Amino acid sequence: MTRERTPHLVIVGGGFAGLWATRALASERIRITLVDRRNHHLFQPLLYQVATAGLSAPDIAAPLRHILGHQRNVEVRLGEVTRIDKQARSVQLVDGTSLEYDTLLLASGATHAYFGHDEWAKDAPGLKTLDDAIALRRKLLLAFERAEAEPDPEKKAAWLSFAVVGGGPTGVELAGTLAEIARHTLRNEFRHIDPASARVRLVEAGPRVLSTFPDVLSLKARRQLEKLGVEVLTGTPVTSIDSLGFQLGEQFVPARTVVWAAGVAASPLGATLDVALDRAGRVLVQPDLTLPGHPELFVAGDLAALTQADGRPVPGVAPAAKQMGKHVADTLRARLHGKPVPGPFKYADYGNLATIGRMAAIVHLGKLQLSGVLAWWFWLAAHVFFLIGFRNRMVVLLNWAVAYWSYQRSARIIFGDVKPPKDPTRG
Ligand SMILES: Cc1cc2nc3c(=O)[nH]c(=O)nc-3n(C[C@H](O)[C@H](O)[C@H](O)COP(=O)(O)OP(=O)(O)OC[C@H]3O[C@@H](n4cnc5c(N)ncnc54)[C@H](O)[C@@H]3O)c2cc1C
Repeated sequence: MTRERTPHLVIVGGGFAGLWATRALASERIRITLVDRRNHHLFQPLLYQVATAGLSAPDIAAPLRHILGHQRNVEVRLGEVTRIDKQARSVQLVDGTSLEYDTLLLASGATHAYFGHDEWAKDAPGLKTLDDAIALRRKLLLAFERAEAEPDPEKKAAWLSFAVVGGGPTGVELAGTLAEIARHTLRNEFRHIDPASARVRLVEAGPRVLSTFPDVLSLKARRQLEKLGVEVLTGTPVTSIDSLGFQLGEQFVPARTVVWAAGVAASPLGATLDVALDRAGRVLVQPDLTLPGHPELFVAGDLAALTQADGRPVPGVAPAAKQMGKHVADTLRARLHGKPVPGPFKYADYGNLATIGRMAAIVHLGKLQLSGVLAWWFWLAAHVFFLIGFRNRMVVLLNWAVAYWSYQRSARIIFGDVKPPKDPTRG
């Protein structure tokens, strides 16, 4: 068979769905082009550790070229996809070039959503990429520096006031770790502030944090957060955010550092397919993850909206994305070999974990519900295990061991310009 005749599979996105599909097709006679706008695969579940200076960027990411270097049927292309033309079977890139495909897997994930308030983004950054994590790390570390240099007690307090909006797993992890940094990591390091006096608020519009867990675990998570020093504010939505703080009901809360961990919107590439989307912009796929009338076009991972047989949606989590990627590969393999294709995609739910801080986590695995130290060990083991394939899994483990016993966070380096910002209260 000539190279031209070898079927061409284009995969957009080297995240969990795209990468797992690519690797599962390693021994197939198919030409794969994997396009991503970043040169690396990112382990997003540990992004908060980079944002809070516990780990460095390369500890949780690896170059796609390195991961796939030995897979001869793959070509990695660094580029941003802007549009899919499903009639012409082509993918348009931002540099004006295009890629034609026989089969397409669109797995470009999700991004933050500010519920129609995109103007909040500049004062309340979110966490999705390594760039976001490094910018957030800088913002958090600089807030303590600004507080140290600020003579006015009110402004000093505002620099030492931190808020995380959104009580899902990312918000909880960030708030818990921030409280730990303030109370332990920075102890004895400043001369004009007591970092332990910093206020860390976790704001959740709904009635409880970690609402995908059973009530009892969610309550335990709240207690563990409060024990770490986090003020948990539930039941009131944030109605505005600016550089000085945020509005919560009738009250304006001064806070120079607000982090957004509340909303998720699907990658805008879904909208270029000209098919039905759900409210978050996710593509309503068929049970086999294809588009109606387009068996050659698959959508997987966070960008795909699929309801399971029990009526519940497939959640936007890493295991679901990996399983979808693998399912697409199984379908393609069956087609290539003229064998019966697998049935509809079924999500195997192995449980739900969330960490809160040092030695604090919750775990929900079927009938098993754990919280506290045991849950934290479970969480740690699972995360190190899933980092498999990254060169520095051992480095991560060592880093954590040191951090969790000494409270030190080794990545506390502030890059770039450290000039103080123009103070909006000083005109
Ligand atoms: C901070 C954070 C913490 C999380 N914690 C957990 C957790 O603890 N457990 C868990 O199970 N899940 C967690 N998740 C969710 C999990 O990471 C996602 O469900 C999973 O990454 C989805 O995989 P995906 O392949 O669909 O998308 P992604 O992994 O997001 O990959 C999408 C890829 O597409 C690329 N891309 C996007 N747009 C374009 C474009 N236009 N052109 C080219 N390339 C593009 C991106 O660069 C990226 O590499 C977390 C997510 C975040 C943000």
